[in-house]
Amino acid sequence: MDWTVKHEFDIPTFVQQLVEEARALPATGKVADYIPALANVKPEQVGLALATIDGKLYSAGDAQTGFSIQSISKILGLVMAMNRVGDSLWQRVHMEPSGLPFNSIVQLEYEHGIPRNPFINAGAILIADVLVKHYSASRQAFISFIRQLAGCEQIFVDEGVFQSEKQHGSRNAAMAYLMKSFGNIEADVERVLEHYFYQCSVTLSCQQLATSLTFLANRGVHPQTNGMICSRRDAHRVNAILSTSGMYDQSGEFAFTVGLPAKSGVGGGIVAIVPGYGVICAWSPRLNHFGNSCLGMHMITRLAEQLGLSVY
Ligand code: GLN
Repeated sequence: MDWTVKHEFDIPTFVQQLVEEARALPATGKVADYIPALANVKPEQVGLALATIDGKLYSAGDAQTGFSIQSISKILGLVMAMNRVGDSLWQRVHMEPSGLPFNSIVQLEYEHGIPRNPFINAGAILIADVLVKHYSASRQAFISFIRQLAGCEQIFVDEGVFQSEKQHGSRNAAMAYLMKSFGNIEADVERVLEHYFYQCSVTLSCQQLATSLTFLANRGVHPQTNGMICSRRDAHRVNAILSTSGMYDQSGEFAFTVGLPAKSGVGGGIVAIVPGYGVICAWSPRLNHFGNSCLGMHMITRLAEQLGLSVY
């Protein structure tokens, strides 16, 4: 990759331009409302942040506004579980794309309660089971992990979103019970779901999310603290599964147009990892029918194109 091109380019101005460009686009997509508390967000918000491994942070728009990280939390849950149980994890969850919506249940029965990957709901619920079994206080461990990564103690769960997820979580509960019937969930299902809903309900800003995940662009080492968050091999593995499954059944198109490991959440956030360079986080609440932020996709596509960031 030609790094000199990037350094000559005026990134701060371009990041600002991208937010303005996104704000000017006609509103398409819909804010998630299947978890009613998520619908309380102002739909026109747009934020963009880029945190580099050499310590620069570029951002624009609503990049300091907290939003519900939702499925982006699946990355952090996976890293914690990999650190705790090692390779045995991959007997209980696989690493293949699902080709189905993030909350689909059909595949689980055919495949004997083993989720296709850790980034669909069934896979993340399985990971929640691992965390509940291996931590005496898994929710506390999860929030402490994020606080450590973000370098900020003031990170919390949105209690309204948490309760709303619990009240409207029948489909997730169905998946958890189905996996339990196959013997692939070990802990009490209600405790597993509590953990899963809790981690989805964490609030972070684009700036905080981009900064928190820089270890994935830096072979597992957090560039700000030099602390090793996961092994180099596991950072590679997380990025590989993000590339094939992080954007659900739009992952193929995302690899084709953007070419970066990435993860979306129904709160409207998207993070994209640029190995050896940094992390982009875009946020805007309106989603396309895959559950990915419309304007988030637009901004990340433009940024990756302009800076030549594709890993392929
Ligand atoms: N909490 C959401 C759910 O379980 C997360 C889904 C997502 O962000 N794609 O349905």
